[in-house]
Amino acid sequence: MMEKFRQETRDWLDAKCPQSMRSPGSEKDALWGGRAAKHPSQDAKDWLDAMVSKGWTCPTWPKEYGGGLSHEENMILQSELRRINARPPLISFGISMLGPVLLEYGTEEQKLEYLPKIMRGEIRWCQGYSEPGAGSDLASLQTRAVVDGDDYIVNGSKVWTSYADHADWIFCLVRTDTDAPKHEGISFILFDMASPGVTTKPIQLISGSSPFCETFFDDVRVPRKNLVGQENQGWVIAKKLLQYERNMISGMGTRSGAKGPQRSMENQAKLQLGETNGKIANPDIREEICRHKMDGQAFALTRQRAAEESKSSSVPSPASSMFKYYGTELNKSRFELLLEIFGSQSLRWEDDSTITREWLRSRANSIEGGTSEIQLNVMAKRVLGLPD
Ligand SMILES: Cc1cc2nc3c(=O)[nH]c(=O)nc-3n(C[C@H](O)[C@H](O)[C@H](O)COP(=O)(O)OP(=O)(O)OC[C@H]3O[C@@H](n4cnc5c(N)ncnc54)[C@H](O)[C@@H]3O)c2cc1C
Repeated sequence: MMEKFRQETRDWLDAKCPQSMRSPGSEKDALWGGRAAKHPSQDAKDWLDAMVSKGWTCPTWPKEYGGGLSHEENMILQSELRRINARPPLISFGISMLGPVLLEYGTEEQKLEYLPKIMRGEIRWCQGYSEPGAGSDLASLQTRAVVDGDDYIVNGSKVWTSYADHADWIFCLVRTDTDAPKHEGISFILFDMASPGVTTKPIQLISGSSPFCETFFDDVRVPRKNLVGQENQGWVIAKKLLQYERNMISGMGTRSGAKGPQRSMENQAKLQLGETNGKIANPDIREEICRHKMDGQAFALTRQRAAEESKSSSVPSPASSMFKYYGTELNKSRFELLLEIFGSQSLRWEDDSTITREWLRSRANSIEGGTSEIQLNVMAKRVLGLPD
């Protein structure tokens, strides 16, 4: 039965996945969807349309909202996608973060309203968590939502909101009770970024790009039906979403080499440093690459095993902190190694293919989604059960 599914999937992917979508793309090739979606190429659009027609942008969501594949079928789909090196058809915080918590905590009305749009890439989300005084200590957030008839009136500001200036909607943590202990006065709400009173201001990263923003809310009116879960019970949802986010971010630890089809780390090292008997000429670098590749392979297999054991492709548990920690540290060390290989060649800045910007961007990996120190704290408390 499963072999039949594998063969059908393989045949379908062979027919539908354009050749140009069978290599890792760069950041500018990513398709984020949304109201103002820009398709980087016709092939990218065709690839997305094909995957959406199957519901395979969210393969394990229930059929009425997404794909309807079983866990086993999804494992096969993922392995067939890896086999042809297929690019994700859609990058989406809706798919990787919000969708799973809506499935668990949303009302049926909310699921029917948002999940199909997320699956089809019609709505782009941003994450309104961090504030100027609430990063690692997220529960100290001060953005207020006050009930006014059928609405909340939201005032406050968020910071580091990735792609807020391109997002259609935000999933946002707000304080709905100022008297309760800080974890017990938080609610999780959704609202349209085009609502009057929402403004964004991009912030530049050290890599030169501006992927994130300061986000301001000035008397923003949000219907109360956009509350997810119970009022003042949003902290539980916030933490669950972070587990999905951390698991998603940890995936960067399974990449190898710099971006682009011909840029495996070994090939680059051979090009830059020369070859002796078909091997990288510099034995120290050769050893470092071997070690890095073994770590990467062990990490990928461990993630896969955890996903198989949990019967879910995204492992929503405190163990996601472990994967986030290791995956991001691994990705940072990958870029350190690439810099070593490229030597002075990596000092270029203007050229699009330079790794300097990617290396600088990788420094943020162990900050976004919660810093490495915070992941270590979560592991100590929630995985190992050590005292505070
Ligand atoms: C690229 C990028 C994208 C991001 N995107 C988003 C987004 O879309 N939405 C969003 O809401 N946020 C986003 N963030 C924000 C991110 O979640 C925060 O930066 C992160 O949680 C750290 O918070 P902070 O920057 O306030 O640092 P702080 O909390 O001020 O931490 C400063 C330092 O103190 C350490 N520290 C703090 N508390 C402890 C502790 N208890 N134990 C040990 N060490 C501690 C930290 O590890 C860190 O080294 C993004 C960040 C980056 C870099």
